[in-house]
Amino acid sequence: MDETSNFAARLANTLDILKKIANEYAPAVFASSLAAEDMVLTDLILRNKLDIKIFSLETGRLHKETLAMLDRIQETYGVEIQLFKPKVAAVEDYVRQHGVNAFYDSVEMRKECCRIRKVEPLNRALKGNKAWITGQRRAQSATRVELAVQEDDVAHAMQKFNPLTDWSEDDVWHYIRSNNVPYNSLHDKGYPSIGCEPCTRAIQPGEDVRAGRWWWENPESKECGLHVVDGKLVRIKSI
Ligand code: SF4
Repeated sequence: MDETSNFAARLANTLDILKKIANEYAPAVFASSLAAEDMVLTDLILRNKLDIKIFSLETGRLHKETLAMLDRIQETYGVEIQLFKPKVAAVEDYVRQHGVNAFYDSVEMRKECCRIRKVEPLNRALKGNKAWITGQRRAQSATRVELAVQEDDVAHAMQKFNPLTDWSEDDVWHYIRSNNVPYNSLHDKGYPSIGCEPCTRAIQPGEDVRAGRWWWENPESKECGLHVVDGKLVRIKSI
């Protein structure tokens, strides 16, 4: 099979997975970071009118370019992405006790900030659903090499799907360009992976695609807690 047929097969498989989730795991939600992978899934879900709600975690520390994606999605698809924000009191307590940028001080301080600004809002966003979807890919980092398409998310008592597991970065950009999908302009400025503004830097040619995320930490600790249970990444079974 040539590369074009391989891509067509991966795309068809991803669409089948999304349809299966919409039909068999409703209510299901897609957690979009508004980055390139997630725009592929957004496009597939909205273009095919699949019954999957899309939300994003508005941490209060996102780049203006990332926030601009919300308007671009509305303009392109006529759909408003639901936003989940951290609790104001929790953010204020953290800042008062530790400072506004304490996440640079230690992995623990960084994880606590992620817990307040991402994990707790994610838990609220997932409540009441049977399945959730992410745009994670195996090739993205050392922490994702064993990523499965379907995982038993014990912590949230639901199924978790990663329909782009086998996609390469080239696949993602091929889909975006072929289908004229809107994307975050930071991707054109050396940001293949985009998180909060103070915790993301542009990368140099040859660097790992997630090297710009929490760049001051070891690769093994670079997850925000959204894909972790009891300190371990959850990888259970594939479909
Ligand atoms: S990525 Fe950085 S700013 Fe965003 S929640 Fe995590 S530690 Fe806080």
